[in-house]
Amino acid sequence: MPESVNLVFDITSEFVEDILKGFVEGWKAKHRSTTNQYQRFFWSVNGLSLILYEKKLVVQGRLNEFTKRVLKELPHVKGLTLDSSNAEKLRRIFPVRQNSIVCGICQKDTLLIQSSIEGLDISFRMECEHRHDLTAPFLTLNNRVLPDINMLVSKSVSRLVNLGFLTGAEIVFPEVILDVIDVFKKTGKKKAISSELKNLRRIREKGRIKINTFSNLPIDIKEHAEEDKIILDFAHFTNSVLLTSDEVFKERALMSGRPTIFISPDDFGELKMIEKVRTQ
Ligand SMILES: [Zn+2]
Repeated sequence: MPESVNLVFDITSEFVEDILKGFVEGWKAKHRSTTNQYQRFFWSVNGLSLILYEKKLVVQGRLNEFTKRVLKELPHVKGLTLDSSNAEKLRRIFPVRQNSIVCGICQKDTLLIQSSIEGLDISFRMECEHRHDLTAPFLTLNNRVLPDINMLVSKSVSRLVNLGFLTGAEIVFPEVILDVIDVFKKTGKKKAISSELKNLRRIREKGRIKINTFSNLPIDIKEHAEEDKIILDFAHFTNSVLLTSDEVFKERALMSGRPTIFISPDDFGELKMIEKVRTQ
């Protein structure tokens, strides 16, 4: 996780300077003198500088629990937007909390819903302080995607990421998959999967995705008979969205209630071509 931050917000026509001023005052920001004629305001909050220009807000400085809270709220200030590279920087500071609950009012995620007594009433509040009425459905965040063996062998996962899909996802790559391949004696496939894993690790370095190998799970492959069953069990076990190109497997996963992303194997060739054209 990064220890410092350098973000540039764009200012849209919806921006109202007083709203931002109210926001920074709420965090007990200190006024600093501007250092050049283009700066409109210069605030500092606990080692974090916020410099307002005509069309930009530059935020830079130290990351700590306090400034992270400021950064989490800041994008909700009306009229501030982030382009994709700045949004990605912000995402790296706040990884998605798997299975956290999304507030239907403000869209912030929460791990905790807590009771509070108000007069003769009991109510429940999320971390954002909005109420949750404890009525289903609970909208939860899921960032885990588990590709099946064909998706890995065809290198379609790294291609999708290179094309801008699956950004922010945690790709579940159970090490046990390599054992599965051993058990089913598919050496050509093992080579292809290792090379796809290398691709994904390279992409991870840029912060676009995360990889979770669940390396310490006590799963004995020989006990199971089918490759698909092992993968599907793993998807259930890790609560992942399954990513597959196998029609039969897709049906099977859906039957057992597993959220699934399906890519027709007929589209693999196209995917390869599009990636080549777009990333050159
Ligand atoms: Zn809320």
